[in-house]
Amino acid sequence: MGKAVRVFLFSDALGWEIVNRYHFMESELAFRYPVRTQFGYSSTAVPTILSGEPPTEHGHFSFFFLDRNGRSPFKVFRYCHFLLHPAWFFNNHRIRRRIGNFLKLIFGFTGYFNLYKVPYSRLALFDYCEKNDIFAPGGLGRVANLHDMLEKTGLKYNISDWRRGDEYNLDEAERLLNSGETEFMFVYTAGLDGMLHFHVGDPDFVAVELDRFAGRVRALMKAAAANYEDWALTVISDHGMTPLAGAVDLRSRVEALGLKFGRDYAASYDSTMLRVWILKPECRRALMDSMNGAPGHWLTAREKSDFQVDFPDGKYGDEIFLLDAGIQLVPGDMGDKPIPGMHGYSPLDKDSEASLLASSPPPMIPSGIAGFFTLMKLTAAELVEHK
Ligand SMILES: [Zn+2]
Repeated sequence: MGKAVRVFLFSDALGWEIVNRYHFMESELAFRYPVRTQFGYSSTAVPTILSGEPPTEHGHFSFFFLDRNGRSPFKVFRYCHFLLHPAWFFNNHRIRRRIGNFLKLIFGFTGYFNLYKVPYSRLALFDYCEKNDIFAPGGLGRVANLHDMLEKTGLKYNISDWRRGDEYNLDEAERLLNSGETEFMFVYTAGLDGMLHFHVGDPDFVAVELDRFAGRVRALMKAAAANYEDWALTVISDHGMTPLAGAVDLRSRVEALGLKFGRDYAASYDSTMLRVWILKPECRRALMDSMNGAPGHWLTAREKSDFQVDFPDGKYGDEIFLLDAGIQLVPGDMGDKPIPGMHGYSPLDKDSEASLLASSPPPMIPSGIAGFFTLMKLTAAELVEHK
């Protein structure tokens, strides 16, 4: 074959339900498959795609986890959190963002970092999983990532910068395709995720935004066709978006027990799940019973193993209470109010499903998003073979 390129365009939250409902690029991307998401958020789905490994292997799940080894970078908050008053000022989202950026700088974090709404008074008890840039060489520690894999192939490749906006990354991709030099591209976009969180319930708005995105994808295809004899473009996503169906305050239920945080138990209140560490075994029953009647369920050992989050040391929680699809946990560590759309529900729920949309038949069809890594590896190997 002649000059060849393979483009993988990652689109955060472009789920299977959405692509079907809006007939997203049905004629141009005719090879279309639902792909099971990784249970959790992008904080675990993206490392899963980048490595082909499950969370129990790459170690990333939700951003915050209980610091059982005394390695928390936030230890200083044990002594200084009471200085961060008045709360109305220090909990203002702009101020929190500034404090988060300052911490990122002084701790030398290169990954995505956000304090979200985790109370300052509890921060010292937690550690954070994405301290390093997971896209960078060796960014997933002992597990090889996309960069490590591509580096070994000798191909001319490009992985776009996740810190940049979609416009920048799509412009760059188009420019690289027009220069005709690059052989393998991973284009990162997250704009649709941000849009769908707030507009998933507004079909007209979504249709316009998807059309705009499709226009950019078509431009990439055109540039590839004009500059390469052999090209293929594949759109992949990490999860879908579930419309808001209700909200529940699980934190008040736990706090009504009168147990002491950090002594009896610890908890992370994510958007769709409560993760609990049981520090005193005699508190287990009360903690678990406090969810009775709430719209969700405690994950069974079988589910944790099936979802590949059965961390042997309970790193991300000894028990996980997962809300029913569409129900949001508020107020919590991620936000105070419900928003129109959220992800992070059961991977078996239809709105959670990710998608694979390709311009030509893919060499394999992954069953779960970890398989996207295998697909990219296979594609890269084929390129090398045919050179
Ligand atoms: Zn999101």
